[in-house]
Amino acid sequence: MEKLKGRAVMGGIIFGKLVFYQRDEQVVKKRKVGNPQLELQRYEYARDRAINELDALYEREIKNIGKDHADIFMIHRMLLEDESFVEKIEKSILEDECCADYAVQLAASQVAGELGHAEDEYIRARTADVKDVSRRLIRHIQNKSEQEMNFEKNSILCCFDIEPSETVALDKHKVTAVCTCYGSANSHSAILARTMNIPMIVAFGKQLTEECNGKRAIADCYSGTLYIEPDKDTIRKMLEKREEEGRKHELLKRLRGRRNITLDGTEIQVYANISGLMDVKYVEENDAGGIGLFRSEFLYLQNDDFPDEELQFYTYRRILEKMNGKKVIVRTLDIGADKNPDYLSSDMEENPALGMRSIRICFEKPEIFRTQLRALYRASVYGSLAILFPMIIDPEEIIAVKAIIQDVKDELDAEGVPYSDKVEIGIMIETPAAVMLSDELAREVDFFSVGTNDLEQYALALDRQDSRLEKYCKPHHLAVLRMIKMACDSAHRYGKWIGICGELGAELSLTELYLAMGIDELSVSPSQVLPVRKKIRSISLTDRLGILLRYGVIRPDELYDYDMFR
Ligand code: PEP
Ligand code: MG
Repeated sequence: MEKLKGRAVMGGIIFGKLVFYQRDEQVVKKRKVGNPQLELQRYEYARDRAINELDALYEREIKNIGKDHADIFMIHRMLLEDESFVEKIEKSILEDECCADYAVQLAASQVAGELGHAEDEYIRARTADVKDVSRRLIRHIQNKSEQEMNFEKNSILCCFDIEPSETVALDKHKVTAVCTCYGSANSHSAILARTMNIPMIVAFGKQLTEECNGKRAIADCYSGTLYIEPDKDTIRKMLEKREEEGRKHELLKRLRGRRNITLDGTEIQVYANISGLMDVKYVEENDAGGIGLFRSEFLYLQNDDFPDEELQFYTYRRILEKMNGKKVIVRTLDIGADKNPDYLSSDMEENPALGMRSIRICFEKPEIFRTQLRALYRASVYGSLAILFPMIIDPEEIIAVKAIIQDVKDELDAEGVPYSDKVEIGIMIETPAAVMLSDELAREVDFFSVGTNDLEQYALALDRQDSRLEKYCKPHHLAVLRMIKMACDSAHRYGKWIGICGELGAELSLTELYLAMGIDELSVSPSQVLPVRKKIRSISLTDRLGILLRYGVIRPDELYDYDMFR
């Protein structure tokens, strides 16, 4: 079995056969033409045909996918009529005597280059549309017919990239999922896939090749994993997951708009974890009360260099605005270990998980840290922002962080830039050290968020990257549960709140225990918000101590420490 990881765009568990589709290479050569006027006519004739084709597609797809999404063809039409695009093409043909197809390709690459540098993520993603429509135009200039996309039933379409017009043309009865080497979650193809309910994973990179053609596979489009020639165990797990996801879907319809309240009236916040601006849609869809963890490092991983202040400011601001006053907890840069951008040249490490990662990189590279903090504070006036610092192991570290924050605020004051004075400061509890010092840490911060993924790794000495160790990582391991309880008690002793944002937060067999401990917030992936809500609504906390005893989180002899015997 081969297991490939990409970026999940639209969920689903799909069993099928892989079909690697390769678009016919469009060969465009630079040629000088003898009669530029004639060449201009040839281009204009091709452009008219391309426009007619787009009009027809628009009319057809309005019925299939609705006006909002069919509008993509109108956007393409407008591009073909865009003055500066047309001028570029005409200039190449008339002044440089270039052949029409080359003139179009040149103009398209210039426009795509300009868009690619735009500040706005949405505008940047439009480069794919320029390429798509230019390819259509060139096809008409070269007088070629459209390449057919014929697939057998149950095909998982694999390709380098898929264009919006190709996505729309997919026969959903045959193509059950799409996996691409490249592409972004913000592209129109991705937007269309979500609308058309086509499970999709993008950005597999070079690991997805033609060699997969004809192989059996399971696309877990929730986690972004493609299992090629899956083994029996994986097939069983995926069948279970498919069933589970089906059930979750039903819940989605019934539980939206309800409160997260136990049978005896205790209310708890259920927030969602996200990796980027595009994920806010799922937060809304699943009716989460806020964003409990925005893993900001994905901003860094998606770029060719450290993202600048403006790009970060724009992203944080948009997320805060979209959340409309609901809490948004942004975790500062947590790269290193398994999350390494190419541009971060770091020394080889024997044990990367124990190495130069996360807040340590921020201390080593203060200018990068300050850039992020400036962007965050500038954005803070657009909503309810909280900032979460990862991998803290010592109160000294959070004191140092707070000094840097003060510096950044002073700088903004001097520049007359406004920021909110209500930004909460919190830390991840994800190392045994943070648990053991949770009393001291609680004095320094407004809240804790337990990162169980790393806490399990460090407390149980289990490399979270090594799938062979999964069987040792029991969700009910008492060491971890008692650590969570300890951090919870420390937070509350100092009047601070505490949440869980690691994967264990969504473990429904532990929800009751978390509530009995007094956890104030659970932040889970968007699709898990409603199942957690359902679970909360089925729990009674009238016997909190009984629950803690039952899970072994407190021992019977410890009961003397509790109020009931005093
Ligand atoms: C965690 O460690 O539990 C956590 C939420 O952070 P990450 O998984 O990004 O390390
Ligand atoms: Mg972590």
